[in-house]
Amino acid sequence: MDCGIAGSEVVDDPRDLTTEYPIVEIFHSVQGEGARVGIPHIFVRFGNCNLRCEWCDTDFDTYEMQSSMDILEQILAFDCKRIIFTGGEPALQDLWPLHRILKRRGYELSIETNGTIALPEGLLDWICVSPKDQMYPQSKIKQRSGDELKCVYVGQDLTMYDDLFEGFSHQFLQPCYIEGESIEWNGRHFAQTEKVVKDNPRWRLSLQTHKWMGVD
Ligand code: SF4
Repeated sequence: MDCGIAGSEVVDDPRDLTTEYPIVEIFHSVQGEGARVGIPHIFVRFGNCNLRCEWCDTDFDTYEMQSSMDILEQILAFDCKRIIFTGGEPALQDLWPLHRILKRRGYELSIETNGTIALPEGLLDWICVSPKDQMYPQSKIKQRSGDELKCVYVGQDLTMYDDLFEGFSHQFLQPCYIEGESIEWNGRHFAQTEKVVKDNPRWRLSLQTHKWMGVD
């Protein structure tokens, strides 16, 4: 496999290329939520998670071990230089081998994480923390700074984020959307969250627009 970019010399450490990761899927789509809504990205969805949220829509227990080289090959097939590591919980992985391979080729790396694992400095260009401590109060957020704080609103007291809020450049509340529920049920959650944002304007409303459109 030719992993290089035409006209450039890209030399990878063979240990990086053979590092394996649990991969659920890799796909090209438009970011549907948060500060970067509407921007095309390549999504690398990792298997495994250290939490079990009731609204979780990812079967993160079904995955295939793939080498960095296999992952790179799939990424190179898309005409896109932005990547989002998502999951499951991507911070469970040692992402440095993938980082080295992808940064050499000019990719911008983002992560969507539940924040329970601290991220090393310099690993990622964009950090989105979506805490789940409204469900798991014992789960302690370790990644307390980043670009985006995105909280699923299920009626929790927003003062629980007071210590976390200033560590992020953008802060969003997102209604809980469950695909198996009716339009009316999801609509009620949307209306509740919209009202909370109107009453707490330091937060912004984020909608999972990709779900309403029926895409990944
Ligand atoms: S943290 Fe995210 S991936 Fe893990 S169970 Fe919760 S919603 Fe699913």
